[in-house]
Amino acid sequence: MSTFLNGPKVYLVSKPSVDWEQVAEFLEDEGVPPIPDSIRAGEDESAAIAEVSARLCYMSYGKGRKDIADFITNLLASKDGSVFEHINYGFVFTGVSRSLSHELVRHRAGFAFSQRSQRYVDESESRFVIPPALVNGNGSSEHAKTVLSNALEKASEAYSQLVEALEEALPREKFESRTDRRKAIRQAARSVLPNATETKIFVTANVRAWRHFIEMRSTPYADREIRNLAIIVLEILQREAPLLFGDFTFDTLPDGTRTATPKYSKV
Ligand SMILES: Cc1cc2nc3c(=O)[nH]c(=O)nc-3n(C[C@H](O)[C@H](O)[C@H](O)COP(=O)(O)OP(=O)(O)OC[C@H]3O[C@@H](n4cnc5c(N)ncnc54)[C@H](O)[C@@H]3O)c2cc1C
Repeated sequence: MSTFLNGPKVYLVSKPSVDWEQVAEFLEDEGVPPIPDSIRAGEDESAAIAEVSARLCYMSYGKGRKDIADFITNLLASKDGSVFEHINYGFVFTGVSRSLSHELVRHRAGFAFSQRSQRYVDESESRFVIPPALVNGNGSSEHAKTVLSNALEKASEAYSQLVEALEEALPREKFESRTDRRKAIRQAARSVLPNATETKIFVTANVRAWRHFIEMRSTPYADREIRNLAIIVLEILQREAPLLFGDFTFDTLPDGTRTATPKYSKV
């Protein structure tokens, strides 16, 4: 009996940090005012990284805008987005489908991915992600859900049968190691796995890239599963770095699902 999942689990596993002693030493070596006169971000590490890097361009430590919110907003408004590339956040996503991950990995600039391998890892016990339209309470019919669960059960059975058949068929002497043979079996058997198969993926991206991802994937035109994920990521990043993500506002569509739009598009 397969396990069905209704939505993602999102873990924020890495975030930016600043070595304040090194920043202080750099400011002293350069003969510019010390913290806090040069760096107005206070304890906010994400904003501080944006500020240290942006002020370096003009060596404007201790000069110019005194309010950090005003400083960051000016960077966003003038699309000086390259400084946001210094600030990285890493997430682990589980309970997401292979169709979602296929869309996710299309985001190239500033992203790093490590995804659970279907060649190394056995998928006979794999779980399936129910598309949001078919989750209870979203107005889908019982008939549609039965069609989906029957199809997924059948695919799961076919995978196990294919593994068993290849286990018997593939000659052991043709492989250098047991791992190579197992990999050959699983990489062939995975061809019958559906898009709904759960995957787990570690994704790190910089703030400029996360902003672009969220903008593209939280529109009404994006697939509901990835839109839901983009909105969860946005909510976390708004808590973590309010100055860098606070310009996104939320809306609700007639079907009750949410979208988000930035004030400053593609910085
Ligand atoms: C609603 C929606 C529907 C979609 N439908 C389809 C579809 O039907 N078929 C399909 O194939 N894809 C589809 N996509 C995926 C889409 O085409 C992009 O591949 C994906 O959104 C990543 O966007 P990106 O290239 O801007 O992002 P990234 O790859 O993260 O790039 C960010 C930005 O960097 C710049 N950049 C990156 N690489 C290059 C480069 N090589 N040369 C020049 N500039 C570069 C661009 O300005 C780009 O916008 C869809 C996306 C959305 C949101």
